[in-house]
Amino acid sequence: MKITVVGTGYVGLVSGVCFSEFGFDVTCVDVDATKIASLSAGMVPIYEPGLEEMMQRNVEEGRLSFTTDLAAAVAAASVVFIAVGTPSRRGDGEADLSYVYAAAREIARNMQPETVVTIKSTVVVGTCRAVRDIIAAERPGVPFSVASNPEFLREGAAIEDFLRPDRVVVGVDDERAKLRMRRVYRPLNLRETPILITSFENAELIKYAANAFLAMKVTFINEVADLCEKVGGNVQEIARGIGLDNRIGSKFLHAGPGFGGSCFPKDTRAFAATGRKAGAPQRLIEEVIAINEARKADMAARVLAALPEPAKSTVAVLGVAFKPNTDDVREAPSLAVIGDLLAEGVSVRAHDPEAMAQAAPLLPGVAWCDSPYQAAEGADVLVILTEWNAYRMLNFATLKTVMAGRLILDLRNIYKPDDIAGTGFSYRSVGRPTLE
Ligand code: NAD
Repeated sequence: MKITVVGTGYVGLVSGVCFSEFGFDVTCVDVDATKIASLSAGMVPIYEPGLEEMMQRNVEEGRLSFTTDLAAAVAAASVVFIAVGTPSRRGDGEADLSYVYAAAREIARNMQPETVVTIKSTVVVGTCRAVRDIIAAERPGVPFSVASNPEFLREGAAIEDFLRPDRVVVGVDDERAKLRMRRVYRPLNLRETPILITSFENAELIKYAANAFLAMKVTFINEVADLCEKVGGNVQEIARGIGLDNRIGSKFLHAGPGFGGSCFPKDTRAFAATGRKAGAPQRLIEEVIAINEARKADMAARVLAALPEPAKSTVAVLGVAFKPNTDDVREAPSLAVIGDLLAEGVSVRAHDPEAMAQAAPLLPGVAWCDSPYQAAEGADVLVILTEWNAYRMLNFATLKTVMAGRLILDLRNIYKPDDIAGTGFSYRSVGRPTLE
């Protein structure tokens, strides 16, 4: 079976590489010629652990190729995945489906009869039916199927998540799509991965409900952290105490500077917009969005409160990616926090192991540094914004020699106050006792 994946971003590229790892013959297509040139030369333009090596091996073994020629790639395939972006539309927060619709039109013009067109992008309820109408209008009388197959991978652990998912969700409304999608995921049978075959609408809603729920969990523990700070609790102990209850689960209970990234912010906005439009407002999620926005501003305010004269101060920021093991900075809390610091005239020196090239154009005025210690030079406060492993064992003696101030603001709780005691630094984190 030949598979074509349209869109080679985080999701499309990982999917394409993993489908070739399953043993399928895969072509990945993108409109971005620079991306395709880089991929064809064996280089992955994003940072995702293990991806480049797996990609090169599958290219060498003849199962994987890259092209900008959508027409030829689609004509050769029996399953075509759409994995293009669905960003937030400016203003109303609704998902911008124009890339999906444009890809669907192009696929329709070039597909063979009986092709299954599968939407992997995160799309609002109703999109699969709309795509089916678009294709039918382009190719009247030609048999084809549409399927929904939302993706749940996490950046930074994308390959592991794709090859060993908790479940696969497939929305269909005909036998052809059902059988063919079962074949695509047959390699996961060995692992007994649950494959949930359902309707278009359910599959589309499952993806948004999952992300909305996870964002709500993060926001819940962030509010508990605020309470801990007021009454003398330790949010990590609370999270452990409630997370050990199987009904709650320990994941996504890490207090921090607010959720960011390429999915939670835009997907919660789109979910809320869908609810408003449908007359079933998602009030919990509306509130989650508002709380999370306010939280990012509050984090910047915490840093500013530690600076007697912001315009004469220097802050070192460790980590700008929205989470570790990725170079993705889309809607990262760092953008909001650093933006607010710069607006107050603070000099910001920053380091990130992988994301500086992505962040630099978005944060003009930041001094980008080669190491955490270089970032700390002359800093009054050191702020930890991404929990990269590289920041978990900082040498405090060295930091003391290079920093002007003696405050560490750990917005990811990667240290314990005990780790810092005796180093000469004050230490403030999120929802835990401070060390002054
Ligand atoms: P991305 O922006 O990294 O990549 C999208 C790619 O599609 C780009 O390379 C772009 O050039 C290409 N493209 C756009 N229009 C095209 C067209 N007509 N033909 C060919 N290529 C085209 O996006 P992403 O992060 O991979 O996300 C893709 C979708 O998957 C989104 O809907 C997102 O919500 C969803 N998703 C993302 C993640 C994640 O962690 N990034 C996880 C699950 C689901």
